[in-house]
Parts: sequence; structure tokens; C-alpha cells
Amino acid sequence: MQDRSDGLLSRLAEGPIICAEGYLFEFERRGYLQAGAFVPEVVLEHPELVRQVHEEFVHAGSDVVEAFTYYAHREKLRLIGKEQLLEQINRQALDIAGEVARRHGALLAGDICNTNLFDPDDRQVRSVVRSMFEEQVEWAVEAGADFIIGETFSWAQEALLALEVIRETGLPAVVTLAIHREPVTREGWTPAEACKRLEEGGAAVVGLNCIRGPRTMLPLLAPIREAVNCAVAALPVPYRTREEEPSFQSLTDPECDLIPGDRPFPTALDPFTCNRFELGAFALAARELGIEYLGVCCGAGPHHIRAVAEALGRTPPASRYSPDMSHHAFLGTHPSLKQRNLDYASRL
Ligand SMILES: [Zn+2]
Repeated sequence: MQDRSDGLLSRLAEGPIICAEGYLFEFERRGYLQAGAFVPEVVLEHPELVRQVHEEFVHAGSDVVEAFTYYAHREKLRLIGKEQLLEQINRQALDIAGEVARRHGALLAGDICNTNLFDPDDRQVRSVVRSMFEEQVEWAVEAGADFIIGETFSWAQEALLALEVIRETGLPAVVTLAIHREPVTREGWTPAEACKRLEEGGAAVVGLNCIRGPRTMLPLLAPIREAVNCAVAALPVPYRTREEEPSFQSLTDPECDLIPGDRPFPTALDPFTCNRFELGAFALAARELGIEYLGVCCGAGPHHIRAVAEALGRTPPASRYSPDMSHHAFLGTHPSLKQRNLDYASRL
């Protein structure tokens, strides 16, 4: 069993935490999850693959195994006509993640997220959303989660509601907001203001995840850091968003006229993918701002997480295979390499 005294808060007191996420995109690319509804049915259909991906991210340096329950909520399962699988998919995702976390001494995180139902003016919907959070949070508690993540909320008020439900369990809450093109939440609060309210609501960690790449998330972080005393989280998507197109949904690709709907999101983002060095640089810059909880969201691969870990001075198991170009036949420096090939390097 995970030693509960070695939970999220005591680990944060020792230094930054790395949390891998973004499994939806990884399984979509691999052909086990459908873009559109983005429901993680792979949890039931191929549990061995979910276990493997968790393994790969821990191997790459993640301190947290986040149960793959993102979009495994009642509204999403209703949408695809599989509401009867709700409890099974949640419990199985938590079991898989818990098993990997315990084996590696990593933290197990439960996960709830944007419901796509929330409407701040509709009290009835509010209670529906609340009960959706309650059922998922309860399963996470029963599975022995060390803490619970509430993520990708573009309504700060929905994030506050999620936080309220998580706090009722007594477990630490990590609550992160999704900031789209406009640098405010959907109700128009600045990220700093929204995070301050989340801290006041009892969140252990507040911050941002998803939607924005490193370049357009970074400028939003300093005001959050100044506004709160608790730990701050930053988990960008690994895509080259920029000032004119600050979210990955807003990216356009003038190089390609083959994309249905002319929108690279979510299945033609490949040419915008950040390399590992960009994620490493982001992690360093975020650390300099005092960000303590780092990760990479939709689109992340294990090589991105390893780069974040190494930027923090760590050598996760995957670092054994970090590049060593000195042994490359044409670009290397090893004395046994053939001069004929080294001379040819400029012509590669
Ligand atoms: Zn994401």
C-alpha cells in the first residue's frame, strides 16, 4: 500500500511534482480511442494497453499515475449510448492506475473534469453536475486515491463546484483551468482571480492545464503565482501555439489543404508538435517562476515527460536511453567511427 503520509503535500514540500496526462490523444493516435466524443473505452477494451502507457510515463519521470477517467463521466457515456458502463470504466481505470502507482511508489490521482453541461445561470444543471462529480470522486476515494485532480475547466465556477465535492472527501485537490483564446475564464475572470478563489476554496494546487502550448501558457503563469500562496500547476499541450493562435483549437495550417474542416485540431496537429527541448525549456522557465506542479497534457509523449524530468535535474529510468550522439555513425565523435562517414556528415 502507498504510504499515505508520503502524499501529495509532503512530496510538494520536498520539491516539484511531475504529472503526466493527455492519454486521450495518445490512445487516439494508437487507434484505440475515437476523436470526437473522446471517451476512454480503451480502459475496458484493452486494460493492458492503459497499464503499459501508465508504465511508460512513470518510466519517463511522472510522480503521479492519473487514473484514466477523463471524459469517463455520465454525460459523455450517455452521449455514446453506454451509460451502463460508467461505474465499471471508472473503477477499472482506478484499479489499473492504482496498481501501477503502488508498484512504483508513485501517487495515485483520481480525476474529474469539465462536464460540458455547466451553465452558471441554471441551478438545476448545477445539481446534475454536482452529482456527476460526486459519483466519480466516491469511486476514486474507494480506490485509495492519494489526491484528486479536477481539470480542464473553462468555467471557473464549475471548477469551484468540483473543488467543493473533492474537499468533502478530505483528500487534497489539484484544480486546473483551461484558458482558450481569450485570456480569461468563460465567465470573464482572469486566471489569477479564478485561482485565488480556488485557493480560498481549499485547493492544494491551482493552475492551468490543456488548450495552450508552452509559449502561450507561460505568460499567464506569473500573475497566478503572485495571486496565490499555494502550489501552482502548469500542464500545457505540447504544441506550438503562438500569440495570434494561442489555443490548439485555434491553430491553422497554411501548408496543408487536406484537413477536413481546415482545422488541425484534434487530428492534424502533428506538424505543430513541440520537440522535447521545448518542453524542457518550458519546465525550467516555469520553475523559475515558482511553479511546483508540472506536466504535459493532450499530445504528450513519454519523451516530453522525460525532458521535463531532466530539466528538473532528475534521471528517471528512461534517462538510461537519453540520446548520446557521440556514437552516431556520421555525427558522432567516438574514436572507432569511420572517418569516411564523418567526412560525409556535411552531405547528409
Ligand atoms: Zn489536455
